[in-house]
Amino acid sequence: MISIKGLHKRFDQLEVLKGIDLEVEKGKVVVVIGPSGSGKTTLLRCLNVLETPTSGSIGIEDQSLDFSSSVSKKAVPPFRRLTGMVFQSYNLFPHMTALENVMEGPITVKKESKEAVRKKAEQLLTKVGLGDKLDYYPFQLSGGQQQRVGIARALAMEPKVMLFDEPTSALDPELVGEVLKVMKDLANEGMTMIVVTHEMRFAREAADEVIFMDGGFIVERGKPEDIFTSPKEERTKQFLRLIQ
Ligand code: ADP
Repeated sequence: MISIKGLHKRFDQLEVLKGIDLEVEKGKVVVVIGPSGSGKTTLLRCLNVLETPTSGSIGIEDQSLDFSSSVSKKAVPPFRRLTGMVFQSYNLFPHMTALENVMEGPITVKKESKEAVRKKAEQLLTKVGLGDKLDYYPFQLSGGQQQRVGIARALAMEPKVMLFDEPTSALDPELVGEVLKVMKDLANEGMTMIVVTHEMRFAREAADEVIFMDGGFIVERGKPEDIFTSPKEERTKQFLRLIQ
């Protein structure tokens, strides 16, 4: 489903991704952990082509981009639509209701009919537990509710893969659970997901694979029970000692 080969990303002098290779099968949930600054967010942003990798290739389903040669501008938008991104800071449009936020992408980007999109958006908001908040504006919603709108909005574009960048980091602790539940439901439905998170419980319960990144490399990867109970690499052990 996803095939990342030799991915490098450099910001001026700073090499943030130093050769990432990663394959993810359809329907799998991969949780990415690692210290701040290790390149986790940059990796997700490269997958969504919010950042242009310096070199390497990314394949998702039957599309692939090879950044080692020049990538045609026309190839990026359809490739970007393969993934849906959920951000730490929700990034909802403040002047639009929950429903309008979810409808925006399919109408403006995919040119779908308004009526069909409205129905789909209502269904998605109901699915994330906000069927009674369709006409609420972001400022009228809690952080957890806003983030669930963010998830519904990403799903409305019907992506093949969902990317989550620390989706619960900005939330008060009592609101984290409702967002993780929506993510778990999605995982159980077979969505392919890559999740950057500090929620180790989510990683234990929902991940098929945990990837530990440090210094722009994947240092170690494995099943959650193996990574958490018997990490092999010293750097993984150190990191887990600090956070657990
Ligand atoms: P993580 O998500 O693991 O905390 P990031 O991918 O956010 O790590 O960042 C990795 C490094 O890249 C950091 O040193 C960060 O300052 C740097 N970085 C990220 N984005 C940019 C950017 N747009 N320009 C310059 N440096 C950046």
